[in-house]
Amino acid sequence: MKYVYGPVFSRRLKNSLGISTVPSKVCSLDCVYCQLKHTTRLTTERKNYISVEEIIEEVRNFFRYKPKDKRIDYVTFSGSGEPTLHRSIGSLIKRVKSISSVPVALITNGTTLLDLKVQKDLLSLDLIVPSLDAVTQRIFKKIDRPPAGMKIKDIIESLVYFRRKFKGKFWLEIMLVRGINDTPAYLKKMKKVVDRIKPDRIQINSPVRPPSEKWVKPVSFATLKKAKKIFGPISEIV
Ligand code: SF4
Repeated sequence: MKYVYGPVFSRRLKNSLGISTVPSKVCSLDCVYCQLKHTTRLTTERKNYISVEEIIEEVRNFFRYKPKDKRIDYVTFSGSGEPTLHRSIGSLIKRVKSISSVPVALITNGTTLLDLKVQKDLLSLDLIVPSLDAVTQRIFKKIDRPPAGMKIKDIIESLVYFRRKFKGKFWLEIMLVRGINDTPAYLKKMKKVVDRIKPDRIQINSPVRPPSEKWVKPVSFATLKKAKKIFGPISEIV
C-alpha cells in the first residue's frame, strides 16, 4: 500500500493505522526537529495531492483483509507532511468513518486552521492533535520556520476558536527543543496561551528521532518534568 501504513504502536495513540494524504514532503512548516527531514515543498496551497479514490481503496482493502486479532485504536491522518493540505480532507475523514467504526484522529501543525473551511472539515474527527511549539513570532520562526507572512498569533486565535466548536477530543502537542523554547519563563508564557486554548490533554515531547537539523537537541528529563509541572495535571510526557 502506498498511502496507508501500519498499524504502528506509539505511546500517544497506541495502535494507529496511518494515512498519508500528501507526498513527502509537502508541509506548511519546516520544523528544525522534523523526523521527516527538510520540507521540500513549503506551501499553504491546498489541493488534491493524492487521489481520494486511491486512498479510500487502500483503507477499504486494509479493513477487508484485517486479521481479526489486530486491534486498532485509531485511524490517523498524519504521514509525510501536513495532512490538512489535502483539499478533500473533510470528505476523506467522512469516508474513512463510513468504512470502519475505529475512531478517526488527525495530527496537524495547526496552520491550516486559519481557514474556516478547514475548521469545518475537521469537525467530524474523534480526536485532533494540533501542535504548538511557540507563542511568540521570534521563536515560531526559529523552531517551525513558517512561510513568509504566517503569524503565530493568528494560529493561536484559530486554535482557540476551533476548540470552542470542536466536540471531539483535543490534545495539544508541545515539542521542546533544548535552547529554543525550554526556559521556565517561556514555558510559563506558553501556559497562559494553552489555558486560553483549553485542550483536553497536553502532550509534552522532545525530539528523539534524528531531526532535520543536526544541531537540534532534546531537553533533559528534568526539563520535561519541570514543563509538566508548569502545564499542570492535564499534561503528560510522551
Ligand atoms: S509540521 Fe510536522 S511534518 Fe511539517 S515540518 Fe513540522 S514536524 Fe515536520
